[in-house]
Amino acid sequence: MALIVQKYGGSSVADADRIKAVRDRIKQTVCAGNQVVVVVSAMGKTTDGLVALAESVSANHDQTLNEIAAKEREMDLLLVTGEQVTIALLSMALQAAGQPAIAMNGSQVRVVTEPNHTRARILYVEPDRIKAELALGKVVVIAGFQGVTLDPATGLPSSEITTLGRGGSDTSAVAIAAAIEADICEIYTDVPGILTTDPRIVPKAQMLTEITCDEMLELASLGAKVLHPRSVEIARNFGVRMCVRSSWLDDAGTVITSPRIGTGNLKSLEVNRFVETVSIDYDQVKIALLQIPDHPGIASQLFKSLADRGINVDLIIQAVQETEGVNDIAFTIPQNQLQLAEVVTRSLEIGASLVTVDSNVAKISIIGVGMIGRPGVAAQMFTSLAEAGINIQMISTSEIKISCVIAATDGENAIAAIQKAFDVKVRSHQACEINSENISDISPVRGVALDRNRARIAVQQVPDRPGMAAKILEQLVEHNISLDMIVQSQSDRDVNEIAFTVAIADLAKAETALKQYAKVLGYGEVSCDGDISKVSIVGANMIHQSGIAARMFSALADANINIEMIATSEIKVSCVVRDHQAEQALKVIHQEFNLSGDRAIEVPSALKK
Ligand code: ASP
Ligand code: MG
Repeated sequence: MALIVQKYGGSSVADADRIKAVRDRIKQTVCAGNQVVVVVSAMGKTTDGLVALAESVSANHDQTLNEIAAKEREMDLLLVTGEQVTIALLSMALQAAGQPAIAMNGSQVRVVTEPNHTRARILYVEPDRIKAELALGKVVVIAGFQGVTLDPATGLPSSEITTLGRGGSDTSAVAIAAAIEADICEIYTDVPGILTTDPRIVPKAQMLTEITCDEMLELASLGAKVLHPRSVEIARNFGVRMCVRSSWLDDAGTVITSPRIGTGNLKSLEVNRFVETVSIDYDQVKIALLQIPDHPGIASQLFKSLADRGINVDLIIQAVQETEGVNDIAFTIPQNQLQLAEVVTRSLEIGASLVTVDSNVAKISIIGVGMIGRPGVAAQMFTSLAEAGINIQMISTSEIKISCVIAATDGENAIAAIQKAFDVKVRSHQACEINSENISDISPVRGVALDRNRARIAVQQVPDRPGMAAKILEQLVEHNISLDMIVQSQSDRDVNEIAFTVAIADLAKAETALKQYAKVLGYGEVSCDGDISKVSIVGANMIHQSGIAARMFSALADANINIEMIATSEIKVSCVVRDHQAEQALKVIHQEFNLSGDRAIEVPSALKK
């Protein structure tokens, strides 16, 4: 007998017939001898409808902060009704079919959250009432996406209702699974599982039987449509076994694996450390190629030559250059490969004006799934380095990791500064393992993601001194702008360029904020480009193989696609390309790593957009 949490999304409970199909699946699971807790979303597009209704009665005037806060409270009261309809109907359907069941909303269960309306994070879930009802032989049907706040006076759950943010019922399900120590949390949705890429662009995208939490989080831009990233964060921190399956089919779906030992605290489910570990690597040499021509094939030629000699390239960054038509590329490699790498790099005729080598460097990294969607974390890292007087030479970020290259002589101070800022221990990161028996059978690249919703901002002529990256980021954090793919490359002059990507919707806001401070902070032009897309490859196994990035760059070069920015982490390589070439970029990369299956994955025709 297992304790199973099943979560059904809006499309799975869109109408009475779908609710009956869900009822049947639940009954089957119970008949097989399991205890079942069900978490549901609102029916179909109910939540969208409620949001539209709210907008139609509250005119769009310029609101004060107080007015916005007041409206957010009522918004939560409104939106929770959607899920309440579903729990009542599903529980009635189960009862009518002879299966004892009870419906409970977030406040009845006591899903306790922070007091932030419309975007509350879960503090804890009381397991007692759920367990008591299960013990009576009932299926417990719980409303996702909602909770109640703590009463600051008593420290007990209050009657103030909150929601978790759009798409939040996945997060409710995993939080409940963690609290009741369920054996598995199954997320039922309208796709058959996690695919290697977007099937609307690559019809023969294949389904993965298994993916690690880390991979899933790095694929966030692709996966966000399937899974709320916060749910994966909880699964990872509490070792909750999760799977994504279709509610229309009987396929096994995709299992999402977590590290075996959870590190989370059940009393602050979602409000934990943003940064889990800090690590430093002194075995690094930095090689930079300055002012190389900005056309397709350059990165490919460089990294292919290095890969052909077995050189293990670690960080790679490429940023835009203020001078039209040229780029800088910098990368790091292990010390013992320096000679070889230098010979290879210098012998290449790719037109670099200068090749510089610096072996007095170290790479300091912070890792934590909690940094997703929290722009303040990167800023805080850079600020703490600045306060310790440490200059950052290179920056490369991914969804869950930020790495900075600094002078090796600054290493100890840097570690101390970061430990103090984030209250973390120095240790190596506990990676999510791939459980398959034969690791060598697994493709190093597991998924290819495309994010078209990005814009690029480059801040030019940033003085090369401690604190600049931090100050630039602070402007953005203040306006609550999340950025990713931060890349800083160092040129031969005493200025740097810092480039990053933000959501297109935030571009204007970010531009205004940055331009406002150009004079004060002493940097130059702020150039913005909304016509770009970010394409990424992700795979936990990439660490064990060299030349993976080179293959990605070659595939792009062969298709004559120019790479405008590169950022890497151990399990991810991201490139910025022109938006009109984005779909083609995705296709050629997916092809390069042979990720297609021999037939198209079936997505129910009703759901094809
Ligand atoms: N019904 C909510 C929404 O549409 C929560 C969810 O479906 O996950 O955002
Ligand atoms: Mg949903």
